Amino acid sequence: MTTASVAVIGGGVIGASVAYHLALRGWRDVVILDRGAAPGEGSTGRATGGFRAQYATAINVRLSLLAREKLCRFEAETGVDSGYTPCGYLWIAANEGELSELRAGQRVQHAEGLHEAVELSADEVLRLNPALAPTGVAGGVYCPTDGFIRPLGILGGYLAAGARLGVRVEWGTAATGFSLRPDGSISSVMTAQGPIGVAAVVNAAGPWASAVAEWAGVALPVTPLRRQAAATAPCHALPETMPMTIYAGDGFHLRVRDGRVLLLRPTPGIAGRPFDDSVDPAWVREVTATAHERVPALREIPIDAAACWAGLYEMSPDKHAILGRAPGCDNLFLVNGSSGHGVMHAPALGQLLAEIMSDGAPTSLDVRALRPTRFAEDAANPSSGLL
Ligand SMILES: Cc1cc2nc3c(=O)[nH]c(=O)nc-3n(C[C@H](O)[C@H](O)[C@H](O)COP(=O)(O)OP(=O)(O)OC[C@H]3O[C@@H](n4cnc5c(N)ncnc54)[C@H](O)[C@@H]3O)c2cc1C
Repeated sequence: MTTASVAVIGGGVIGASVAYHLALRGWRDVVILDRGAAPGEGSTGRATGGFRAQYATAINVRLSLLAREKLCRFEAETGVDSGYTPCGYLWIAANEGELSELRAGQRVQHAEGLHEAVELSADEVLRLNPALAPTGVAGGVYCPTDGFIRPLGILGGYLAAGARLGVRVEWGTAATGFSLRPDGSISSVMTAQGPIGVAAVVNAAGPWASAVAEWAGVALPVTPLRRQAAATAPCHALPETMPMTIYAGDGFHLRVRDGRVLLLRPTPGIAGRPFDDSVDPAWVREVTATAHERVPALREIPIDAAACWAGLYEMSPDKHAILGRAPGCDNLFLVNGSSGHGVMHAPALGQLLAEIMSDGAPTSLDVRALRPTRFAEDAANPSSGLL
């Protein structure tokens, strides 16, 4: 039987970051298992590439600030450009209620040191993004150090840097189960290519993570949620440097990427088909109509149906990551449930899990708010509807 010190199940941006940070901490014989044929076949390859520190809870702001620091020196560390470009995130409030919720988030952000996040009047919003129609703009919040990142660049950077430190990656290798010892710990990971004896396992299986945890008898509350993106034909209607612009009320947001405007708005997913990641043409029509109302410059720009896509968020009940040792299985470690923020938080989560596995506790940040037992303890994080 082949062996590994750690098997990381999932070679998306989170698994790659964990494996790299473990190797950096001196772990040898780390293997990543991914059933995909090549990097980026999971959610990481579907992400739009937003980065923000404007969150409503201290832990999410702290994760972003740690991640941002690491993204700024990412190229020096891994040899690959993370694409971090601080074009800002602009949140728009349509009324006083939305504004006061955004303000409450900003108080948390300021307390965590994100002083560059500011409130804007309606006029200031429209000056910052002159493409917007003034209707429905009562004010907003803005953070200039938020912006964009390259999901596949970050994934590729961690894979390359991990490989230089000896991390092995087995593409096309589905994990199918665990062999457990009488004490409930994992002795080996079953794969189609045979079992792998392990000292520890990391669950980095993205939206598919709850099935992996179940092999160890661990109930992991992570569920998939379809997220769709509509793309215009290539155009110059809006500048590439336009901030990510989000209407707080319904979550409609847009950015420019690689010469196309991307339009997004959350939907509840498809009842009974949680892993379905097809694009709904009716949704594309609706989101396009909203874009035409709110951004008149887009009225003449066609949607490119072939360039639209969908993928899966990995939702946790409080929309915060689940990080740490799995309750009831001593050598299974969870890094799951980022709830659509996994690319931007991957640099921080990988480092933190490597600290937990190496030292027994994290040293960079207090991550008790993310402990896997919080739901059973009735201590979930508050999850703001807007941020
Ligand atoms: C449309 C869209 C837009 C998004 N925009 C953003 C954004 O702007 N910013 C941001 O930070 N995040 C964004 N996200 C979320 C982000 O993509 C995820 O949070 C992140 O990619 C999660 O990374 P991961 O490594 O956990 O998951 P994944 O990339 O899905 O990796 C999990 C891997 O596990 C593998 N796997 C699963 N089960 C098994 C098994 N049994 N055996 C072997 N391999 C297995 C899969 O093949 C997959 O490669 C977006 C997501 C979508 C869908």
